[in-house]
Amino acid sequence: MSVALRTRIQEELDRLKAEGLYISPKVLEAPQEPVTRVAGREVVNLASNNYLGFANHPYLKEKARAYLEEWGAGSGAVRTIAGTFTYHVELEEALARFKGTESALVLQSGFTANQGVLGALLQEKDLVFSDELNHASIIDGLRLTKATRLVYRHADVEHLEQLLKAHDTEGLKLIVTDGVFSMDGDIAPLDRIVPLAKTYGAVVYVDDAHGSGVLGHMGKGTVHHFGFHEDPEVIQVATLSKAWAVIGGYAAGAKALKELLINKARPFLFSTSHPPAVVGALLGALELIQKEPERVERLWENTRYFKKELHRLGFDTMGSQTPITPVLFGEARAAFEASRMLLEEGVFAVGIGFPTVPRGRARIRNIVTAAHTKEMLDKALEAYQKVGRAFGIL
Ligand code: PMP
Repeated sequence: MSVALRTRIQEELDRLKAEGLYISPKVLEAPQEPVTRVAGREVVNLASNNYLGFANHPYLKEKARAYLEEWGAGSGAVRTIAGTFTYHVELEEALARFKGTESALVLQSGFTANQGVLGALLQEKDLVFSDELNHASIIDGLRLTKATRLVYRHADVEHLEQLLKAHDTEGLKLIVTDGVFSMDGDIAPLDRIVPLAKTYGAVVYVDDAHGSGVLGHMGKGTVHHFGFHEDPEVIQVATLSKAWAVIGGYAAGAKALKELLINKARPFLFSTSHPPAVVGALLGALELIQKEPERVERLWENTRYFKKELHRLGFDTMGSQTPITPVLFGEARAAFEASRMLLEEGVFAVGIGFPTVPRGRARIRNIVTAAHTKEMLDKALEAYQKVGRAFGIL
């Protein structure tokens, strides 16, 4: 390795360590289930996005095997060359039906969906109004464009309106927000944002990674929850990697939008399409959610129970409204140490500090799923009580 390269890598690693940003991921030694194994220990898993318990579900595996057998291991091309198969069309039609939108277009991940859609849509004269807590893939997607970015304070509709009042363009005005915020678990106030958008002639773009499969009838998402799913001026982007538990992302909306994305979304044009097994499993997830809508109810029952018990113990869950349940520890060091202690107690939940969340707001992020039993949640709560006492916050 050249000296320049070695120095570059070492300096960067040293910087990350000095700033407390160095990451060393935990390895799961058993499947993604509500109880799994980490560091040789059986743990209650509060760290995954497996909201509906589909990640290791026998039906999804059966469908993946069937598509693998019928269509092979890989797709062999990008969608626009020789990589669009009938199974891709089947998935997009099923998604559009499920979402109640005119059309849907699937991309490789939620991350690439944001990059592809924002990149295809925005031009230099456009104005983007973006919530300050929007996901990294939105921030990166916006950076790929020449549009002017205006950041409004988190979920602060008054601030958003001030910005809309103060800035105008003959181009497109796009308000971009997560549907459910990934670190805080609160819901974007679309009931106020969408009418505001109408007043100022703006379009709304919702990244519903954490609302999809979670909010709205049958988990149809945050936009459905607020009743705006038929509005062509509300663009929905979401992931197939969380509640749908496999991998992928999609945009759902007007047919014309899909047509534009097919022609301009760069990950769609330049990166190979999903392999058959992925699509088979996703179709399985879509079928199951419609056959067993009670899964979403169970998710919410568990969410309510876990939050209620955390509050009873005296923890601060930071205004979360969804299964994403942060527990406030304050300093990053405390959150990381508490996460380590929880693991020793048989609970897997990850500490999150600055710069992912503001200084002094470090937390442990828990995600409750439909697959957790009350016993599992009680075990986690017992561990939390022990750790909370050790930290003097109870
Ligand atoms: N948007 C949000 C709000 C997310 O939380 C995530 C996942 N961390 C993504 C997009 C990216 O989704 P994917 O994992 O499918 O790339």
